Amino acid sequence: MNKARRSIYLDHSASTPVHPEVLAVMQPYFSEFYGNPSSIHSVGRRAGVALANARQTIAELLHAKTSEIIFTSGGTEGDNAGVRGLALARRETMGANRIITSAIEHHAVLYTAEDLRDHYGFELTILPVDSDGLVRMADFGAAVGDGRDVAVVSVMAANNEIGTIQPIAEIGAQCRALGVPFHVDAVQAAGKLPLQVDALPVDALSTSAHKFYGPKGVGFLYLRSGVPFLPIQTGGSHENNRRAGTENVPLIVGMAKAFEIVETERDQENARLRVLRDQLIGGILENVEGAQLTGSRAQRLDSHASFVISGLEAEGVLIALDLAGVAASSGSACTSGAQQPSHVLEALGVPGRDAVGGLRLTLGHSNRPEDVEYVLAKLPQIVMQIKGAAPITL
Ligand SMILES: *Cc1c(COP(=O)(O)O)cnc(C)c1O
Repeated sequence: MNKARRSIYLDHSASTPVHPEVLAVMQPYFSEFYGNPSSIHSVGRRAGVALANARQTIAELLHAKTSEIIFTSGGTEGDNAGVRGLALARRETMGANRIITSAIEHHAVLYTAEDLRDHYGFELTILPVDSDGLVRMADFGAAVGDGRDVAVVSVMAANNEIGTIQPIAEIGAQCRALGVPFHVDAVQAAGKLPLQVDALPVDALSTSAHKFYGPKGVGFLYLRSGVPFLPIQTGGSHENNRRAGTENVPLIVGMAKAFEIVETERDQENARLRVLRDQLIGGILENVEGAQLTGSRAQRLDSHASFVISGLEAEGVLIALDLAGVAASSGSACTSGAQQPSHVLEALGVPGRDAVGGLRLTLGHSNRPEDVEYVLAKLPQIVMQIKGAAPITL
């Protein structure tokens, strides 16, 4: 065993560590203030106050009303609620029957839209993307038409596999002009892009705390007041009758703290990570044989670098990187290991044999310039070894 082995985490788009301050604020809500926030007694009221404060913190940071924040179990639930909840309500009130989404959405959106098509009788329009992963406004305009038959539009703010930032303000402006509900998967964007809803024409926006230094299994759904919504989960009257189930108070308290930290540090941290990201991209394109950037160079998250290395499957590179102490991924945690071509890379037009070769390096709090230097020193060797152009050295 090499005791000096490095541990460099470059998979922040898959999940992040819980920030120490987040852990500290959650702790008492497991052990001391454990009451049900709906209870009348004081133990419950303590939890109820914490829940109200968390809602207030998140609403203020988003420039939303407290009544517009719904706590969920994370990004997958928020995406389901955003797409299903808006589509079903719009069909009930207006008879609209078509869902519009993009080819590179997370499966939480894409499979939800397909489920609504296959089991609930909706029609589905899937927008193509250009070779950078951007939805073209002309395609969107043609798909939405006069909007009368459209039940919901769902386009993500930023893509998890390739970091591309979509023109959601423009798409949202068109939706608003046509009166069509617009859901945004903002799981990768929360804490990284400005999402203040007074300046952004979106009706629903889903997030997940574990992507921004909060705990797993909790998120929030922003839902603009007045937008018709059918809850996807029935039961008690929690969350103003929009999401049944006792609220997970400790995790929600932690999420509010985490969101406060990332929103406060957002511009400064983005600027810091952008420098590291650009060194990674520049160094890898220059020194790794066959490497190509995936996603947009300009419209890209500051923390995100992603590539295909032609002729190589991701898995071998990821295992070798892991042995060298570097945690990276092939794009999405959900499909990694499966060795399936990525639906995102295929939608960009990456040939099938290269679409299994995605390599994603996503930066975050823990990363320092030395981490980037180390990866830039190791990765070219690893790729050469795997391609058989250099002897294996262990
Ligand atoms: C991680 C992720 C999700 C799912 O969030 P979970 O909280 O892990 O369920 C949805 N959309 C995007 C873009 C993601 O990156």
